[in-house]
Amino acid sequence: MSFFKKSDDQCQDSTIEELRQRILSAQLPSGVQRVASKELEMLSKISPNVAEFTIGLSYIDYIINLPWNKKTEDNLDLQSAERILNEKHSGLVKVKERILEHLAVKILMLNKKPRILVVDDEKIALQHLDHALKKEGYSVTTANSGLEAISKLETSAFDVVLTDLKMEKVDGIEVLEKTKHRYPDTQVIMITGYASVDTAVAAIKKGAFHYIAKPIKLDEVRLVVQDALKKKFSTRSSKGSVLCFAGPPGTGKTSLGRAIAEALGRKFSRISLGGMKDEAEIMGHRRTYAGAMPGRIIDEIHRAGVSNPVLMLDEMDKIGHDFKGDPSSALLEVLDPEQNHSFIDHYLDVPFDLSGVIFIVTANIADNMQDALRDRMEVIEFTGYTEDEKREIALRYLVPKQIQEKGLSDNPPAFTVEAVTKIIQEHTREAGIRNLERQIATICRKIATELVQNKGTAQDIRVTPELLDRYLGQRKYYFEVADEKNRVGVTTGLVWTEVGGAIIFVEAAKMKGSGELILTGSLGDVMRESAQAAMSYIRSNAAEFNIQDDFFEKQDIHVHVPAGAIPKDGPSAGATIGIALISLLTGHAARRDVAITGELTLTGRILPVGGIKEKLLAARQAGVNIVVLPRKNKVDTENLSDDVRKGLELVHADNINEIVDLVLLK
Ligand code: ADP
Repeated sequence: MSFFKKSDDQCQDSTIEELRQRILSAQLPSGVQRVASKELEMLSKISPNVAEFTIGLSYIDYIINLPWNKKTEDNLDLQSAERILNEKHSGLVKVKERILEHLAVKILMLNKKPRILVVDDEKIALQHLDHALKKEGYSVTTANSGLEAISKLETSAFDVVLTDLKMEKVDGIEVLEKTKHRYPDTQVIMITGYASVDTAVAAIKKGAFHYIAKPIKLDEVRLVVQDALKKKFSTRSSKGSVLCFAGPPGTGKTSLGRAIAEALGRKFSRISLGGMKDEAEIMGHRRTYAGAMPGRIIDEIHRAGVSNPVLMLDEMDKIGHDFKGDPSSALLEVLDPEQNHSFIDHYLDVPFDLSGVIFIVTANIADNMQDALRDRMEVIEFTGYTEDEKREIALRYLVPKQIQEKGLSDNPPAFTVEAVTKIIQEHTREAGIRNLERQIATICRKIATELVQNKGTAQDIRVTPELLDRYLGQRKYYFEVADEKNRVGVTTGLVWTEVGGAIIFVEAAKMKGSGELILTGSLGDVMRESAQAAMSYIRSNAAEFNIQDDFFEKQDIHVHVPAGAIPKDGPSAGATIGIALISLLTGHAARRDVAITGELTLTGRILPVGGIKEKLLAARQAGVNIVVLPRKNKVDTENLSDDVRKGLELVHADNINEIVDLVLLK
């Protein structure tokens, strides 16, 4: 009989029967199997025409297909990991070093056999436990009295102690106390006779993990020991167990994440958190309506087909402020090793173990993440690339990659060093290399098109600076600083944005008025306050700069920061604004090629600021010659490679007075 001719009842029966078989053969954890069977039982009682039937059907199908126990085997060879990271990425020495250290610790933890101490004065019981636990792959030490246990604890540490409660002389409680005193993280399991359950409860109050009643069932022992080990390892690794890659776009965060997955032999998935607005996107929707779905985390695991992928959570710092529910608590549940071994997605409604997942979080600025989340992470900073680094990456990686992707391998165009330099200087302005890669892709695409149009007769193609003009058109960026004149009231500043360092120009103008300070240029709050502080500093030191007493009553001052596209906030422009005002009020032009960064106080002190490397890279791209920095940032500049400082004179100052003569032309 064909499927369509079956009656609804028969059809339902066969669907249910098929699912029953699948549930049985899917090797689900016992709790999950129970839930699935119960759901199926309910379905068998309702009509296939109601919505609940379809919802239930998809639910059961979904959980059967989840990789509850499927894992890829880790490749725990640090040398091959290092090789893979190096093959795919040039530079990033510090970053790779940190990643390898992180992996090394993980590998050690994974490879280490858990150490268990079993204490019992009954010889047979001791032997049974010893045998059963060794079979599980643990390293087991036995002690046949409390006294012996304590002496063993003196000399070595254990992950779990399994002790009989009632023993002569030194009892289980004393073993528990000694263990907890010396190794607070070690988990202690008590074994008790029925008669002493009260004491066992007292032991729990004293910090024991669990108790097992006699007569001992070995299955129970195995499970409790497993749980105790989970707890032990989760407390050990909860801090900094999640890697966070922070830095501007295009600096290799994603591709390094992929390389880590490849190095470990794991699957790789990515979820973008940017703009997420609803807790349900992370935690899933309850199964009350037909369109309910699991959250993105579980869905990615479902798609990956294994329970231990490398899962990259992108743009953690962009998670919406208008988020419904609390994103940090939802994400903490996902990322916290103490909680994530039983993560409950609202759709699944049964715990799923996420502890095998390696999470890598990315952000542009780590400080923009919520504190509770940031505390859990080991933040690795990715900084922008210098021009030399960009050139090297382009020639070694990006060009060959694009040649291959655009089908030019048979007749690969040769990119000259000069052409690549020209792309970097004239067609991109970025901390990373995303646009650089895009421009190279554009060139390769155009070459491919020409090849096809000429029916593949082109000779060896050399991409030279001249050819670039044809392919990429007019230059897009200029040396903003070198190309401009010095002016009164205009200074050059450096700010740090999420896309890297950026150059800004502060313009100040005066006009008849009543002492108002007008601020424009879509400035953030901190920047506005900096401008006000700079103004107050100048007013309170008017005499020193030869400004007439009544000047401020009769004039308005307008401060403007053009380049509207750059989000401008942060204190870095305080000193820049201060000097622009001094230039305006004294009538001395300010040097364009001197870039100033630093927070300004009301007394004229210049306080340290962040993002020094990014700022220097931006200064160099714009053609700045001298950079004025706070004295306290000297430690940062001293740690930078010569490559970053190349071509820049760095001047460190404590007070704005020290730099007036340097910046203003007399
Ligand atoms: P992010 O995630 O930081 O925005 P991506 O990982 O997407 O950056 O990197 C953009 C492109 O640049 C990718 O094609 C990547 O392979 C390449 N890339 C970035 N850094 C390096 C590097 N150090 N060596 C080689 N290629 C790199």
